Amino acid sequence: MEKVYREIARDTARATGALLAQLVRTGPGSAAPAPLATDGPALAERFRREVILAVLADDPLPAAVRARLDVGTLPVVLPASAPLVAVLGGAQGDRLTSIFVRLGDPAGGAVLHLALPEPPGRLAAIQAVARLAEGRLAALAARAEVTRGQHRLTDLEAAREVLAGLQVAGTQLMIEADEGAILGTVARELLRLGLHSGVLMAEPGGAPVFRWRFTSFPAGLQRALERIMGRTLAEVVVAPAGAPLVARCLEDGRTLVTARPRAAARDLLGGATTAQLRALGRLFGLVRLVLTPLRREGRTAGFLAVVAPMLRAGDPEAIEAFALQASVALEKARLVQALREERARLEAEVERRTRDLRLAVEALQETDRKKDNFLANVSHELRTPLVTVIGWADLLAGEKLGELSPRQRQAVQVIGSSGRRLKGFIDELLDLSRHELTRDRLALSAFPAGDLLRQAAVALAPRFAEHGLRLHVRLAPRLPDLWADRDRVLQVLVNLLSNAERHAPQGSVVRLAASRGRAGAVEVSVADRGPGIPPEHLARIFDRLYQVRDAAHPRDPGTGLGLGLAIARSIVEAHGGRIGVRSRVGRGTTFRFSLPTVERLAGP
Ligand code: ADP
Repeated sequence: MEKVYREIARDTARATGALLAQLVRTGPGSAAPAPLATDGPALAERFRREVILAVLADDPLPAAVRARLDVGTLPVVLPASAPLVAVLGGAQGDRLTSIFVRLGDPAGGAVLHLALPEPPGRLAAIQAVARLAEGRLAALAARAEVTRGQHRLTDLEAAREVLAGLQVAGTQLMIEADEGAILGTVARELLRLGLHSGVLMAEPGGAPVFRWRFTSFPAGLQRALERIMGRTLAEVVVAPAGAPLVARCLEDGRTLVTARPRAAARDLLGGATTAQLRALGRLFGLVRLVLTPLRREGRTAGFLAVVAPMLRAGDPEAIEAFALQASVALEKARLVQALREERARLEAEVERRTRDLRLAVEALQETDRKKDNFLANVSHELRTPLVTVIGWADLLAGEKLGELSPRQRQAVQVIGSSGRRLKGFIDELLDLSRHELTRDRLALSAFPAGDLLRQAAVALAPRFAEHGLRLHVRLAPRLPDLWADRDRVLQVLVNLLSNAERHAPQGSVVRLAASRGRAGAVEVSVADRGPGIPPEHLARIFDRLYQVRDAAHPRDPGTGLGLGLAIARSIVEAHGGRIGVRSRVGRGTTFRFSLPTVERLAGP
């Protein structure tokens, strides 16, 4: 370029007879004019050459010319400046003229300065020569523009390629779910583009300090590097305070490109001596480094460092975009990891609680068993002497041991009836504890429901007769055999029938029935026309020791302990059946329970 400018200056000087011709670049606006080239016969004398060039460089365009540049009223003819006259004047006397002609457009062209030895009489000719020079300058500029355009195009194409490559790699990144795999993909994809890279990640806690988590250096290269540094990469700690490059990247949160590999190496290796840096320079010979932040939760959590022998235009942007994708992938991986940990924690917690609960349940069951054992033992121990008391009371009352006075007879009768009531309670307690202790051990067998209903009816017949009650038994035809523990189911029926017998009014009918229930079960019901149970009690009558007591239901002498229905429910449920009650005050009560049959046993 400079050569061509000088040629233009020389040719113009020769064609116009000027002592000197100077091309001055005039930038747009306030940009200072700068000499492009100077040539002409005045420069032929070697010893004056430097002085002349210095004078012209000092003030390439006089203020008068500069003032008129923008208004475009060149050419201007002026007496040559005093310094110029001083250096050229010796040979040419005082008659020296400067002519300034514009070349190119006012926005950013050049001015041609001709120093002529006499007053110009041939301004038109000079301008014609100037147009020629202008043409050559324009051609030169066009050629430069074409080359620049070509460069830009190749750069753009390369950048597009890099970007496309990294975009594909970016989608690959999103598939990875753990940090190691993501960093591996980052390094591998950059390597495919011929770029070595490494990842620095912040250490957890406190002030930010970074460590190398990953590099794509071949093992040999890394070993050589570690030998030079006298420590492994894993030992390197990078603190922003001692690494200006890292500090700047951290502060701005923006990608940084540096062409000073030594400073970069010193920063990224946690400090290095001059000798080490020189050795590293020999090893890598690299000239460019791109440092781009990796972000997590809106903060810089690390850096992607990419080293390359040369970078094309667009490479830093592509790397930055890639780092952004890597950041997103890392963030996703972190969330997935957090989720996994939370799930594991929850699972462990649930397991722990379940274990605690199981232990608590086991402890409770153990306590319950102890209580039932205690109840069984105590009841049994109480029952034996009580039976003796009742026996002797009956003997006395029967006057088998001698005659009694009326008062004595009355007293012995009270002893006998109280003893019997007490025995009733104790029997009920024994029933409950016995059943609770053995509820897992049902003696199951197949038998017709009709047999059971009849057996219960026979057992209760004397008491029903005593109260003038009628018991109606109804069996649905072709009922399947029950599959149950016969004695215990009998106990359920006896409990329900005793309750009915106690509550039903004299002369009324109690109905005992068996029919087909749901899902192959048999349903047994006991219905009376007694006073019914107020709705507020219904939900609780199956609870242990729960009794309906109010003004309408005073405690009558036949009442037990409030265990009968609890035992009935426990037995039915031990068979996998259900028990329920429907009652309307003043109209009567119906209890219903279901029992398994042989049919259900063979069922699907
Ligand atoms: P209890 O030993 O008091 O009979 P149960 O468990 O057999 O204990 O009955 C609980 C309560 O349910 C009783 O207090 C009684 O008032 C009420 N009950 C049970 N069966 C009937 C019924 N057929 N008619 C009215 N009330 C009943």
